Order: sequence, then C-alpha cells, then structure tokens
Amino acid sequence: MLRPLLASLAVAAAALVGALAPMPPGATPTTPVPATSAAHGPAAAGKPLSGKVIVIDPGHQLGNSRFPSEINRLVPAGGFRKPCNTTGTSTDDGHPEATFTWQVAKVLKRRLRALGARVIMTRHSNRLDRWGPCVDKRGRLGNGTADLKVSIHGDGSYSGGHGFHVIAPADVRPTRDTYRSSKRLAKSVKRALKARRLPVANYIAGGDGLDFRHDLGTLNLSDMPTVMVELGNMRSPIDARKMTTKRGRSSYALGLSSSIRTFLS
Ligand SMILES: [Zn+2]
Repeated sequence: MLRPLLASLAVAAAALVGALAPMPPGATPTTPVPATSAAHGPAAAGKPLSGKVIVIDPGHQLGNSRFPSEINRLVPAGGFRKPCNTTGTSTDDGHPEATFTWQVAKVLKRRLRALGARVIMTRHSNRLDRWGPCVDKRGRLGNGTADLKVSIHGDGSYSGGHGFHVIAPADVRPTRDTYRSSKRLAKSVKRALKARRLPVANYIAGGDGLDFRHDLGTLNLSDMPTVMVELGNMRSPIDARKMTTKRGRSSYALGLSSSIRTFLS
C-alpha cells in the first residue's frame, strides 16, 4: 500500500535528519523514538497487559512419581524445609493433575501473551521422564521481575466435594509484605471464576473459596502478589468432567486471565 509506505519513508527521513543534525552544546544524545512507539495509540488498546510479566506455575511435572528420591529431597520452603515436590493427584479414570494443569497453563499463556504480557513458566514440558520443579525454584522464579504469579493445581479429595478454591499467603512472616496484594488477587480470581459459572468449593476453605496458608513453599518464597488455585476436585465426577474437556479447561483459563487483567489494570 502506497500511503503507509510514503508515510513511513517520511518518518524514516525525519529520523535520519534528526540523527545527523548537529547537537547544541551540553545536549545529551538521545535515541530517536521509532515510529512504532505510536503503539501507545490504538494498537495498545488491544494489549492491556503490555509491559507486564506474569509467572504461571503449572504445579507438578508428570514424571514426579518416577523420581521419588529427587522429589522427596528437602528444600527451603520459607523458614522451614519441605519435599521438593509431590506427585499430584488424578481423576478416578487416571487423567493426571500434571496434565490438567499443563493444559490449562498453555491456554492461559496464549491468552496472556495475546493481551501483551510476557509469560514465565515454571516448567516447559509435561513429560514422564522429567521431574520437579522444586517448590523453592517455583516460589522464587520471577522475583524482582514479575508482576504476579499464579500456581495452578487440581485437588484430590472425596468424591462428594467439588468446586474451586484459591489459596493465598497468610499474614505472617515471610509473606507479610505480599499478604494484602495476594489477598486482593485471590478475590479477583474467585470473582472471575464465579463469573464463568464455576462453583466455589463446598468441601474446604470454609465454604467461601478463599484460604490463607503459611505452609506452602511456592507462596512463601514468592516476592510478588501470588495465589495458588485448586481449580477443582479431580476425584469429583462433576469437576472431573470439566477438567478433562477442552471447553472446561478453557473456562478455567479464561477465568484466570480475566482476573489477572482486572488485577493489573
Ligand atoms: Zn497439586
């Protein structure tokens, strides 16, 4: 197309002239602002999370049960030590938690990237021949760079219990400084999942879908607003149906992305 080409040539010519022009005494050299930084205009409107960094933690690696000595090794968990990781749970017919969280995390990652965010994942595969990552690594990842962290899990309780619950760090050392912001994030996640007609857990967390814990390394070592979300009870036939279908998983992921967007805006 001719007009945009001419326009960009004009911008390039102007930048060139600017770069070649003599500088007044005392002036410091500056990099000419590229024409693409006009992204603060209409282009930025579709990228509300531009500049934000989000850590997604899809919990346990698929192969953890094959590496008992590695995952049982004790690691720092925030003032005490805990096993590196656990095996996670599964549905009654064997759909592993690791695979469920990986699937949701991938949809969430795509969505957040489409909104302009940079995403850091705590694991990059879902494989039986891999293990980890340890809770200390998951907890610390993104400290100093990321804006928030969401740790994705599926619970394994009795078959009559169903629904999601969100766990945030407690108002105790070492998470006293992230307690308030994490609580706000937890409420945002709860609201967004409810808005997608996902029910609050009826079997745990006092029935209000919010829990505050001080025994989880992932939350304790994370120096940013952080929540762990148990999206459903994999042992419940009601939840298992949602957790093992593409539509159900997309519902969880879209709920999480909309809560993150609300929280960061
Ligand atoms: Zn888990």
